[in-house]
Formats: sequence, C-alpha cells, structure tokens
Amino acid sequence: MLVVKKFGGSSVADKERILNVAKRCAEDFQKGNEVVVVLSAMGKTTDGLISQALEFTPTPKKREMDMLLATGEQVSVAMMAIALGSMGIPAISLNAFQVAMHTTSEYSNARFKRIDTERIHHELDAGKIVIVTGFQGINKYDDLTTLGRGGSDTTAVALAAALHADACEIYTDVEGVYTADPRIVPNARKLKEITYDEMLELATLGAKVLHNRSVEMAKKYGVQLVVRSSLNTAEGTVVKEETKVERMLVSGVASDKNTARIAIIGVKDEPGVAFRIFQLLAKANISVDIILQSIGRNGTKDISFTVAKTDLHDALKVLEENNARIGAEKVEADENVAKVSVVGAGMQTNAGVASDMFEALYNVGVNIRMIATSDIRITVLINEADVDKAVKAVHDKFMPDNAMFS
Ligand code: ADP
Ligand code: ASP
Ligand code: MG
Repeated sequence: MLVVKKFGGSSVADKERILNVAKRCAEDFQKGNEVVVVLSAMGKTTDGLISQALEFTPTPKKREMDMLLATGEQVSVAMMAIALGSMGIPAISLNAFQVAMHTTSEYSNARFKRIDTERIHHELDAGKIVIVTGFQGINKYDDLTTLGRGGSDTTAVALAAALHADACEIYTDVEGVYTADPRIVPNARKLKEITYDEMLELATLGAKVLHNRSVEMAKKYGVQLVVRSSLNTAEGTVVKEETKVERMLVSGVASDKNTARIAIIGVKDEPGVAFRIFQLLAKANISVDIILQSIGRNGTKDISFTVAKTDLHDALKVLEENNARIGAEKVEADENVAKVSVVGAGMQTNAGVASDMFEALYNVGVNIRMIATSDIRITVLINEADVDKAVKAVHDKFMPDNAMFS
C-alpha cells in the first residue's frame, strides 16, 4: 500500500515533535507500506520569515518572498530525514525541484500543473521513506513558487493523486474537522465524515484545517482524505464524495479575519461601471467575495465588496491608478471586518437558516454589515472584534449540545 502522510507546522515544531512524526512514519514503513511524507515548515517559521521581510518594505517582491518562504519546508524535510536516519530507517528528503513539481507562474499563489513521479518511485523502489517539501513548486522560469498559506495540504493531495496513493492522511494539531474551530468554540464537535463540497465551502470561508485548493483537488481526482491528530490515535474525519450520515442542516460554522471591505463611492449609475471595476481587479489576480451595490441616487451609486486583507494594498493601488476610467468620488477601505459563515448541504431545502443565523447574531448584539448566500452557505460581514462572540452564538443556535451526531 502507498500512503501519503502530511504533517503541519505544529506537528514538526521541535525536536520532540519531529521524533514523534518520525516514529509514526517508521511504524507505517515497517508494516511494509510505501511511505511518502509531506511536511510544512517547523512551527511558526513561515510567519517569522514574512515578518523579517516586512521589516525592509511593506511590499517585497513576490518572487523573492517565495524564494524566502520555500526555505522553511526545506529545513523540516531535511531534519526529518536526519531524524529517521538516526533511527536506522532509510529516508531521503526532496524539494520541489528534485521531485519536479511544476506549477503555474504566479508567485505566492501558484497552482500545480504537473508532478513528475519518476524520482519518487525510484526512491521508494530503493526502499526509502520519501519526504517531500509541502507548499512549494517550480514554474516555467525555473523559479520557486509557493501555493498560498496553508498550501502543504495541497501538495499532499496532488502527490496522492499523481502517485495513485491508497491513502492520503492529513495530520494536524486537532483531531479532525469540527463543527467550528475548536479553539473558538470549545464545545464544537468532531465530524465523522464530511463531503468534498461542504469541506470546500468551510475551507474557502476560513476553516484553515484544510487548504481549500487541496479539497478542490481531492474532489477532482477522487482522493479520499483523512484529517487526524499527529499527537494521538483518535479516529479522524473522512472527507469524501458522499457521506452515509444523515444530512445535517448545517455541517459547520467558519470565520475569516483575513477580510477587508472596500467601498467605491459615487460612481455613475450607468452600464459598464461594475464591469470595469471587477475586470481591473480580476486582471490583477485579486478575488472579490461579497459584493453589494446601493440603489442609485442623483445619477450615482456606491459599490462595496470584500477582498482578502492581504490583497487590500494591491486592490487600492489598482483602483487609484485607474480612477480616470472608474470615476469614483472616493474609495474607502475598512480592515476591521471579518466574515462568519454557516455551511450545510441541508440548507438548500430549508428556508429558515438565514433567519435563525440573523437571530443568533441579534441576540448577542452583533451588527451585520453585508450578507452573501449560495446553495449551501450563508456569510455575513461583521466587525472583526465581534468574531468569536458571533461564531459561538451561531454555532450554539445550530448545534445545541444535545444534537445527535458524530
Ligand atoms: P497545520 O499546521 O497542521 O496545517 P493549521 O493551523 O493549518 O494546521 O490547521 C489546523 C487548525 O485549524 C486548528 O488548530 C484549528 O484551530 C483550525 N480550525 C479552523 N476551523 C476548524 C474546524 N472546523 N475544524 C478543525 N479545526 C479548525
Ligand atoms: N508553511 C506554510 C504556511 O505556513 C504552508 C503550510 O503550513 O501548509 O502557510
Ligand atoms: Mg495548515
């Protein structure tokens, strides 16, 4: 059996944790399995490298940031190979170049295009555990790229798909996927199973337990995932196409503080304005989430929308440089906002979810600033300071303590 095992930053944060992971991988290997390990950078290494770079300038070149951040994963894979070696287990570490993991060219947000499997197969055939750097790739210029924060999950799924692995296990610092972030909602419950679609929504809306691209890719290639703890052997959560469990109305609550709101005030109330604004942003590779357009007055209107906080600077720059075409009276930005969302396949056929969510927020005095909905989610934009309170209130509304599942 070929197994891909991915361990996140906190699971390899120090010597003791690295040895713990090495032991778990060695056990699998000694059972006769072929083992491919994907690692993130140790602990908060990536955050540390980012702050160091920002000491020079708030806008470092993305190419150089990728060059810098890719070092983190290289340290952890080498450490792991050394640790396994010290236990007498044959292991080899490989970076994105050595495997040859080809991505698109966008720095800091690259996507996998193709993964060569020859080198990995060669090392597995030679009887080694193969340890691969998560989060990074190479582009057509032979430069290092990264996949976006949390991207090591996507490396694991991409490798599992490319190698036709029999299992893809994501080990982290919680026991699985919960009905809400267990660090915000202590009584959140672990789900036995969740569908790709629901997990994709949760991940996209801020549940960082899985990188959203990893779920997208798992669905596309039919890679079944197990999310579980690196610190104990508790059964985790299975992410797959269909779940046996009876459909719950709501499967989870997610929040995302990496959100900023931009308001474009006083543009002409005529065709083509929204098109021009969002085309400019799309060309700059900036994704927009919730969009709200005011009713026109005196021939003008306002358009507000949210972007990732990390894109705010670029978004404002694009809008400012092109204001001759947009014709706004002014552009305002607010960074002190966050999104809270409920996700559930069951809500497609249930009209009461939105009002229940708004009631829960009203009961704890949280003001809603924007709303967006889809078939299986409802998202509200609120003040960032209210996030934890809002997540708890919404979770309690939909997941009363006596609910029967998990
Ligand atoms: P890793 O370093 O292992 O990749 P991450 O920090 O990226 O770990 O993701 C795990 C974290 O995701 C947990 O510590 C938890 O705080 C957070 N999280 C957010 N939403 C959820 C959820 N619904 N279920 C489980 N964990 C969640
Ligand atoms: N080290 C990277 C990050 O911190 C990738 C990952 O952890 O998945 O975002
Ligand atoms: Mg992660």
